[in-house]
Amino acid sequence: MIVDAHLDIAWNAISAGRGFLGEPAPGYVVSRSSLARGGVGLVFATLYTAPARARRAMRTRFVYENAHEAGLMATAEVNYYRTCDLPLIGDRKQLERYVRGWRRGRLAAVLLMEGADPVESPAQLGAWVDRGVRIIGPAWGRTRYSGGTHAPGGLTALGVQLLSAMRRKKLILDISHMADRAVADAFELWRGPIMSSHSNARDLVSGDRQIPNATAAEIARRGGVLGISFYEHHLRPSGHANLDDIVRHAVHLARAAGGAEHVGLGSDLDGGFDAKHSAMQDTKQFTDLSRKLRKQFSASQVEGVMGTNWLAFLERSLPG
Ligand SMILES: [Zn+2]
Repeated sequence: MIVDAHLDIAWNAISAGRGFLGEPAPGYVVSRSSLARGGVGLVFATLYTAPARARRAMRTRFVYENAHEAGLMATAEVNYYRTCDLPLIGDRKQLERYVRGWRRGRLAAVLLMEGADPVESPAQLGAWVDRGVRIIGPAWGRTRYSGGTHAPGGLTALGVQLLSAMRRKKLILDISHMADRAVADAFELWRGPIMSSHSNARDLVSGDRQIPNATAAEIARRGGVLGISFYEHHLRPSGHANLDDIVRHAVHLARAAGGAEHVGLGSDLDGGFDAKHSAMQDTKQFTDLSRKLRKQFSASQVEGVMGTNWLAFLERSLPG
């Protein structure tokens, strides 16, 4: 089973009218049927919300001015997922049952909140857990909780409270988009499951959106997995990336993490970029990707990178 740890499915549907059911919109890659055709069985489906200052960068009017609006938008995304025939995996038992009965064509999701502003206050985290959220990345750009991409800074006081609440609710922490200072704060405070859903190697593409080797190593030491983004500028400084670039980042991250069992996919396909700006234009190419990975990794390592590493991570990280 292929697992993709980062897809902005509801955002694409609600903010841009590119629905998940049916075929992908022209020039895009992801839909329920295209993922199923490609052999994907599980996705980490995001609740992504854009702050007002990102209106231009994200080419959208679907933005929030405050936490309450962010909360309403993320609620709309949860409701969208309910219409997608996409079972939400919430605990180990559900995961185990789903994986055991999986056949090609079936698709399920784990809900990942990207940017925690929709959580109006850490005391209200329980409502989001009840709606199915199991993974939270506190940052995107800067949020009320954390420094983020192009927005240096640590966890805020509210961010420290959020992490305590997340731990009580047995959630998983996603460090993608967190600023270096905030990642350092999290390493100091956080004792729960930790991962990075869609961040590539900073050695290969400089900039704070990518992770340095030491971060990869620390996440691995804590049993986490690192998802590789397929966005061309996350793969190559010049863009124009292809499947070989995904392999390059997989090799690099596996080395930094001390093993390929800590590497997975977090494509972010269609998340603010179309097929032209992606290393993969069609989900059929997942097969080509595993063939290329096989030149660098053993057959079981390739299976791990393509999906079973995420499944093993969820098995040890989701609530029982
Ligand atoms: Zn992202």
